[in-house]
Amino acid sequence: MSKNSSRQAGRHFLQIPGPTLVPDRVVRAMSAPIIDHRGPEFAKIAKKALEGIKTIFKTTNPVIIYTATGTGAWEGALVNTLSAGDKVLMVETGQFASLWKKMAERIGLKPEFITTDWRHGIDPKAVEAKLKEDKNKEIKAVCVLHNETSTGALTPIAEIRKAIDAAGHPALLMVDTISSLASADYRHDEWGVDVSVGGAQKGLMLPPGMSFNAVSDKALKANETAKLPKSFYAWDEMLNMNKVGFFPYTPATQMLYGLNEGIAMLHEEGLDNVFARHARLAEATRRAVKAWGLENLNKNEKQASPTITAILLPEGHDADKYRALALDTFNIAYGASFGAYAGKYFRIGHLGDTNDGTIIGALGITEMALQLAGVPIKKGGVQAAVDYLTSAHAQGSRAAAE
Ligand code: PLP
Repeated sequence: MSKNSSRQAGRHFLQIPGPTLVPDRVVRAMSAPIIDHRGPEFAKIAKKALEGIKTIFKTTNPVIIYTATGTGAWEGALVNTLSAGDKVLMVETGQFASLWKKMAERIGLKPEFITTDWRHGIDPKAVEAKLKEDKNKEIKAVCVLHNETSTGALTPIAEIRKAIDAAGHPALLMVDTISSLASADYRHDEWGVDVSVGGAQKGLMLPPGMSFNAVSDKALKANETAKLPKSFYAWDEMLNMNKVGFFPYTPATQMLYGLNEGIAMLHEEGLDNVFARHARLAEATRRAVKAWGLENLNKNEKQASPTITAILLPEGHDADKYRALALDTFNIAYGASFGAYAGKYFRIGHLGDTNDGTIIGALGITEMALQLAGVPIKKGGVQAAVDYLTSAHAQGSRAAAE
């Protein structure tokens, strides 16, 4: 930004991995007049949302909608299914897995943490081995992240399911899909997930402040005997009230309008097209990173995230200073870095209501900002992304013509 100016022209580039841009259609839907949340008109809107969100989780079972951020839905998953002192198996994929584990400890659970170097997603074999060691079946739940937002690693949940089954273990499977839902393929029922944890502010394109628990029959059964204290997050009252389109408290009424609009938009585009768009933009970003000669924090290419790319800066370059420079000069916001890697990487989010042009813009800014910051890069990252996207679209047009 110019030294003599207090305003940056043009649109802000919000490239954090959520909250994401809220489309105008969703904003307009949310600006509807407030109505009675115990009235018949509202019940219709709520029922539509409660049905619609099932199609996103790919479940026929109920989905609980909380007026809380994703952290609330983490708590909801644990307190509704477990009792004090229960063992849970978690995997340290990064910052968000570590925060969920900290929550588990704070509410009286005993997490066993499989550590990683934050540069790989989850190894299903490690989960299987831990469960096989647990001869007395003391582990009551396996809690994993589908997408670790702090590092950019996506875990194949179907393989975690297989690992649990191969160990013959009865533990519940709980999956945080906060930064992958409505951006990467997710199948609550088919993958045998017992509790899925989702959030509004990423793939669903809503503002923050709403989150979800999709539940299996087994999770509902566990709920009957789970003894951890719960009130706001309790499923029983919520499920009873939801049957008639109401909530036990005043729900975030405007968010429900937004949710219905967001879900409609996702189905208009087609969920598979949404997933393909995210995969394409992620691949373009990774190609740019490679062409610059920089390193992706996630080393396992098979588990590369479709929603976020974490980019390591070379030794001696401070990623926080880089982010500040890019924000000040080009009005772009990136995601920060965490843990042992704090200050060493920055994250580009490529999720939500975004497209090829926006990503090329963000990569163009990044190429300029890296050079301004004196980070030694090779030129051509943007070109590599442009070439990839062009060829991806050419293939798509050819396939459509055949
Ligand atoms: N889990 C994951 C994977 C996340 O990315 C986040 C937030 O970004 C959270 C949990 C916490 O959600 P919230 O910040 O909405 O409470």
